Amino acid sequence: MRSLLLHLSESKRLAPFIMKNGVSRRVARRFVAGEALDDAVEAAHHVNHSLQLASLDLLGENVSDEAGARRAADNYIAIFDRIAEEHLDANVSLKLTQLGLDLSENLCQELLEGIVAHATNQGNFVRIDMEGSAYTQRTVEIAKRARAKYAGVGTVMQSYLYRAEQDVRDLLAAGCRLRLCKGAYNEPPEIAFPKKEDVDANYVKMMKLLLPSGIYHGIATHDPAMIQATKDFAREKNIGRDAFEFQMLYGIRTDLQHRLVREGYRLRVYIPFGTDWFPYFMRRLAERPANLLFFARSLFPRSSLGAE
Ligand SMILES: Cc1cc2nc3c(=O)[nH]c(=O)nc-3n(C[C@H](O)[C@H](O)[C@H](O)COP(=O)(O)OP(=O)(O)OC[C@H]3O[C@@H](n4cnc5c(N)ncnc54)[C@H](O)[C@@H]3O)c2cc1C
Repeated sequence: MRSLLLHLSESKRLAPFIMKNGVSRRVARRFVAGEALDDAVEAAHHVNHSLQLASLDLLGENVSDEAGARRAADNYIAIFDRIAEEHLDANVSLKLTQLGLDLSENLCQELLEGIVAHATNQGNFVRIDMEGSAYTQRTVEIAKRARAKYAGVGTVMQSYLYRAEQDVRDLLAAGCRLRLCKGAYNEPPEIAFPKKEDVDANYVKMMKLLLPSGIYHGIATHDPAMIQATKDFAREKNIGRDAFEFQMLYGIRTDLQHRLVREGYRLRVYIPFGTDWFPYFMRRLAERPANLLFFARSLFPRSSLGAE
């Protein structure tokens, strides 16, 4: 089911059908702050009010023309200006395929560096999300080149990839801030651990490389076992609670988010917004069967789905 949903998340035919449907739009709002920047700003104020940090993500990936990539870059500059105007404690997450990586690596590097220069001038930070494995190598290289010029940029490592440990070592040597996650795409067993227990073990292994590095990293997970392993390791190694942050997605495990803040940990909420929410929404459904069941029940309320 996970593979099917991830496969469907790339469907250009299904997207308009789901996105026009009123029920899916309502269900998607659990995971997406809204379609306008104002919605994301409102969500970020709310998050900051609860003593949490935010990362704003303008949804969009795989743009197919240069004008679309340039528009996305302009939008990101405007987001940073709005963050500054609103005095939000927030940075930005973006995807390189939104900045034209499918079209030209040079164009993508140029647009990214324009955004990173703007963010660095404002003392802010750009997180380059990690997409499917077709983009891993290029993302690592682009992130390293940008980091060699500017402080305000970092990227993401996915613990399901066999190559992740070597990438972590390379990027740490380049002084790169990293977000550690498990990975959200459909990857074959030739390049990614198929079993959850191996993904989790690699996650813990990489967390133990990140935390003592002296660089400020993000531990992105809703998994209580990963969170506990991080807390235990930090305590054992005397690593302060302000030396790293936990990160979670908007609308997921808010109970855990609040608990971590009460315990004195730093917690950043990833706030996606925008009209292009279909692939993001499908990845969230794929992560948890209960989400899919909830969605199916909302679509077919009078059916016997999930009847006791
Ligand atoms: C801040 C942040 C940024 C991310 N950035 C990227 C990225 O750049 N690239 C990438 O490939 N992936 C990214 N991810 C997604 C990540 O790779 C995982 O797919 C996702 O976080 C689920 O893994 P988990 O660590 O929560 O553990 P899991 O073992 O998948 O889940 C543990 C528990 O968390 C809860 N949970 C997890 N997902 C959901 C959900 N969708 N709905 C409801 N409950 C859920 C459930 O209670 C579940 O039992 C990001 C995740 C976070 C939190």
